[in-house]
Amino acid sequence: MIEKIRYFEKLAELLEPKAKDRDDTRRRVVEYGEQFLKGLKNANAYNAISDRGAPLLDSPISEEAEPAGIGELIELLKKNVDFPGLNPASGGHLGYIPGGGLYYSALGDYLAAVFNRYAAFFPIGPGAVTMENMLIRWMNDIFGFPQSAVGNLTTGGSLANLMAIVAARDSKNIHSGDVARSVVYMSEQAHHSFAKGLRIAGLRECKVRRIRVDGRYRMIADELERQIEMDKEDGLLPFFAVASAGTTNVGAIDPLEGIATICRTHGLWYHVDAAYGGFFILTEDGKKKLRGVELADSVTVDPHKGLFLPYGLGVILVKDKNALNTSHFDRAPYMATPPAPGDEPSPCDLSPELTKHFRGLRLWLPLKLHGVKPFRACLEEKLLLAKYFYGEIKKSGFEVGPEPDLSIVTYRYVPEAIADDLDKVNKFNEELLEAVNDCGKIFISGTTLEKKYTLRFACLSFRTHLETVDLLLETLKDKVAILKKAYCLDKAD
Ligand SMILES: *Cc1c(COP(=O)(O)O)cnc(C)c1O
Repeated sequence: MIEKIRYFEKLAELLEPKAKDRDDTRRRVVEYGEQFLKGLKNANAYNAISDRGAPLLDSPISEEAEPAGIGELIELLKKNVDFPGLNPASGGHLGYIPGGGLYYSALGDYLAAVFNRYAAFFPIGPGAVTMENMLIRWMNDIFGFPQSAVGNLTTGGSLANLMAIVAARDSKNIHSGDVARSVVYMSEQAHHSFAKGLRIAGLRECKVRRIRVDGRYRMIADELERQIEMDKEDGLLPFFAVASAGTTNVGAIDPLEGIATICRTHGLWYHVDAAYGGFFILTEDGKKKLRGVELADSVTVDPHKGLFLPYGLGVILVKDKNALNTSHFDRAPYMATPPAPGDEPSPCDLSPELTKHFRGLRLWLPLKLHGVKPFRACLEEKLLLAKYFYGEIKKSGFEVGPEPDLSIVTYRYVPEAIADDLDKVNKFNEELLEAVNDCGKIFISGTTLEKKYTLRFACLSFRTHLETVDLLLETLKDKVAILKKAYCLDKAD
């Protein structure tokens, strides 16, 4: 038996590379990262290719190590993962909600993985949990929540929204027999993660009232109140309302204070989805526009959007600690370490997860190394770039949506000769988007607003600056001219 153990031990030791191998592998990985970062300014924001990563399948996982080592694997990554499709690290990413990828976050993730501290449970990972809770208290402060509020670092905004739904369901005591009479409220423009979350939370049968929006795509608070009153008269159970603080579609901020008052009057759980817009509260203008967020019962924010982190970090903040606890607390004999007075709250008691990635470090490290100031400046810059784009695109003869609340602008081009034909105008703009994205340097996305296909300018990457916006403006003008020629709309227009 001992011989066998030794035999397996020898093989298992391969999992612990020697210092020299670590050195070599790390050097090549870091070099590859450097190569990518140095080339980023000239790299495409989007690469359309036909095989879309499929060659990865020709290199299956096998019993034996890759004979060519890390060099070959980097080549595989480079060609098949880091090339095709959208390049979210690019400042030319102006579609959907742009991402980021702060370098110091990557180093935070590196350290978190090397040390592998247990960030789920305070008694065994006290430092890691303290760091995560300190970050949550920092955010409580930013959003005007009391220090007694709790929260959790999630994988993203969708999970944070799901946790808000669950906390609301349990703290409003919605039992299975009540579900069909229960009502939730959100605007027509609310994020689709709520529709998903309600189903996951066992609330498939509850009634969802999509409250109408005004000309700026903000929820009409009066209609919310009227609907709640009607539902109450009908014997229904209104229990949960969502306001968006920056819709994904157009960046609109619902009337946060008005909705707060209505929720308080009628006893609803008030959730603010600030996944996209939340961190604009660090700016002067954003602070005013987000007034009322402090009145919410819970808030969702996404550092992997508004703080430019690499993907994988959302946050839920909840004022009533018991609410998250009721839904998520449990214990088992194999977690024998008893909590002591003065312990920090443990993430595993406030979220569906137990063992989890130590996500705090990827936020803490860049915040500590940079300070908050450059984050604030970057967000101010994004607001101004959106204003600038709005003014310039309007001057270029495009039809624009409402003035931006935050950093999203909607616009489309309406050639005069086909102005009365909605289908043709829609098609023109779809082709315009394709033509812009085919150039590669800029990636934009579109949406549909009142049946009109509309282009979106969504500015949130820390690598997007004035030159990027000017390049988009130039490209749009060029492509419109080319398309009009192709459509033979030149003279008529
Ligand atoms: C992005 C977004 C979400 C979802 O967040 P993920 O991090 O993508 O899961 C929810 N709400 C709004 C308003 C968003 O913009």
